[in-house]
Amino acid sequence: MNRTDVSVEPERVRALNLAPLREGAGFVLYWSQMNRRVESNHGFAFSVRLANEHNLPLLVYEGLTCTYTHASDRLHTFVLEAVPGTAAELRRQRVGFFFYLRATPEHPNDVLYRLAADSLCVVTDDYPTFIAAAHNSRVPEKIGVAYYAVDSSCIVPMSRHEKRAYGAYTIRPKIKRELPLYLKKIEAEPVKRPWRDDLLPPDLRKLRTDVRASNIPALVAGCAIDHSVRPSSSFTGGYAMARRHLDLFLEKKLYRYDRESNQPSKRANSDLSPYLHFGQISSLEVALAVQTYAEEHGLMAGDFLEELIVRRELAFNFARFTPHIKSLEPLPDWCQRTLRKHAADPRPVLYSPEQLEKGETYDALWNATQKELLIRGKIHGYYRMYWGKKIIEWTPTYEQALQVMIRLHDVYALDGRDPNTYTNILWCFGLHDRPWGERPIFGQLRYMSLEGMRRKTNTDEYIKEVMALEETGKDPYRI
Ligand SMILES: Cc1cc2nc3c(=O)[nH]c(=O)nc-3n(C[C@H](O)[C@H](O)[C@H](O)COP(=O)(O)OP(=O)(O)OC[C@H]3O[C@@H](n4cnc5c(N)ncnc54)[C@H](O)[C@@H]3O)c2cc1C
Repeated sequence: MNRTDVSVEPERVRALNLAPLREGAGFVLYWSQMNRRVESNHGFAFSVRLANEHNLPLLVYEGLTCTYTHASDRLHTFVLEAVPGTAAELRRQRVGFFFYLRATPEHPNDVLYRLAADSLCVVTDDYPTFIAAAHNSRVPEKIGVAYYAVDSSCIVPMSRHEKRAYGAYTIRPKIKRELPLYLKKIEAEPVKRPWRDDLLPPDLRKLRTDVRASNIPALVAGCAIDHSVRPSSSFTGGYAMARRHLDLFLEKKLYRYDRESNQPSKRANSDLSPYLHFGQISSLEVALAVQTYAEEHGLMAGDFLEELIVRRELAFNFARFTPHIKSLEPLPDWCQRTLRKHAADPRPVLYSPEQLEKGETYDALWNATQKELLIRGKIHGYYRMYWGKKIIEWTPTYEQALQVMIRLHDVYALDGRDPNTYTNILWCFGLHDRPWGERPIFGQLRYMSLEGMRRKTNTDEYIKEVMALEETGKDPYRI
């Protein structure tokens, strides 16, 4: 059987094996690994098109396993909270949905393979980090049917960049040139053949997990995961919640984003990064909504779109072309040179990873940023730079500083394990930046001081807010 042409731009789609489409298949399978949404999802739209072309129903598979590194109550809760909304939307569209929560390592680990055994092919998300990257390099060889990875993470498809960009200034012109081609709404066509549950054998159907808002705490409690990392004080997962954050941003924050996005206590940022990380909303939908709202209300959206598109897609580009992204190896030569030169500089103040984790330093602002990460699962973008720079200053080696930053993100950040995570942590070591004046420990890396933070932002207000959050565990800004 021939592989099929589809209307989703072909440059978004990679065939990751040479296996054929299955003759006599019962359905098409879309494995939603990272883009855990129905809306504005090229992988889902591509799957519907394939299903319709082959006159087959579509089944969406979403899994959540206890075995991924640092799986915790926080990450599990956020992912599970999105599931009832996804199920309802797929039901409305007459598409099948199979959610499987693998609660303990003893539970079956082959659900994908069993579902794929009757599918025309497997369609999944193209994603350069976290478990999706590992799955997409391992599974295609073993699955026995055609396996497609579709890029619905970036607006300008990752494949449009042939190599790693040196910095924002090199990728920006290309993104700006190509954006009009890709900044357009994507909607899946209606399915021709509705899903029927009897297409799956009864023993397989029994493995499906029924997720409802009311049973999420019990489901999470029953998983063999890290229960010490509590759910976020501030974020509830799901597309509907992402939309509420987006609407709040449009109505109350966009008009002041240019002026106030670097003022943490002003709360002018979108808080969308957890939703973008788990693919619960697409950057495409956000960009279109912001662009339209700005046009209709005579607002400037350039600064926000620079972050959402240029900076974010620079990070995806970096992750795609960088095999050892969790190391200092990919840093450019000038960074390597300056780090070598200053590696043995004395560090007057040192903290252990445990002290850093608990936020126990002499610096009340830094402690507040770390506590924001512990409690909310995210640090404000401006202070996040300061947070990283200080860890470099307070850790015996650059390599250890890097590992501390990665671990704290992997464990606590709802938007962690993302191309943005590793790229921005490396930014603290000079990636995508330029040399600055020479100084101890940092060499030519950009330095950020407490005095600078005090001068440019209302640090007292921020510290007060985080202390209140620590005391009450309640975020007054939770929506
Ligand atoms: C040390 C360090 C670690 C970071 N770790 C992460 C991380 O784990 N996950 C993550 O998504 N971002 C990370 N960032 C980048 C940035 O801080 C966050 O994207 C931003 O704070 C998210 O909050 P927001 O959604 O309210 O941002 P907004 O200001 O509302 O921006 C909207 C979106 O634009 C994108 N964006 C904003 N700033 C950047 C940036 N500097 N680089 C790339 N994309 C950007 C994000 O997708 C963000 O959600 C990190 C930055 C630093 C310095």
